[in-house]
Amino acid sequence: MKLNPPRRAPEAFLSLGANLGDREENLIRALQALRGRGIRLGRLSGLYETEPVGREEQPDFLNMVVRLTTLLPPLQLLTRMQEIEQQLGRVRHERWGARTIDLDLLCMGGLIWRDERLVLPHPRLHERRFVLVPFAEIAADYEVPGTGATVKELLRDCRDPHRVRLCWSAEQVQLRMRKARA
Ligand code: ATP
Ligand code: MG
Ligand code: MG
Repeated sequence: MKLNPPRRAPEAFLSLGANLGDREENLIRALQALRGRGIRLGRLSGLYETEPVGREEQPDFLNMVVRLTTLLPPLQLLTRMQEIEQQLGRVRHERWGARTIDLDLLCMGGLIWRDERLVLPHPRLHERRFVLVPFAEIAADYEVPGTGATVKELLRDCRDPHRVRLCWSAEQVQLRMRKARA
């Protein structure tokens, strides 16, 4: 019998953001929830405190980016992300409003995708410093599919004026993750 060769799990990058409740705890819990069931977490960025974009009258966000590998197809990964948003108590009031957690899929392998549920790469990633700064921390030389540009080039060209400030290093986040598991 001929077996299919093992498939190399594609890599994906996720953006996480929170600006309600215990923001740091929400991010850590989302990371813990992502792990397993066909998802393997890779490199994590630090946590950045960022001014809200889109609707300015709301608390500052904590944002980060994580690399993962998964054999889940894109829509199943999105479904899993949305389940975790629900578990962590996200209530959808208005677009770009305050939330306990937002999980956005930035890129997946070299995929370009557009349907009513999912657009890849994320269509607004290049205009957001709160995405590009943590993304560049973990994958500066990654070429964003369809753009011909690396993350650090997109960051260099980004005109977003909103403040983005590192407040927890990646090492501190790793430590928090280990404590949460112990
Ligand atoms: P933004 O997408 O501008 O960051 P948002 O994260 O606040 O806004 P949500 O309310 O979380 O928006 O999601 C709105 C819809 O976006 C979801 O129903 C989801 O199906 C769709 N969507 C399309 N592409 C993506 C993607 N790459 N990652 C996450 N959601 C996506
Ligand atoms: Mg978002
Ligand atoms: Mg979202």
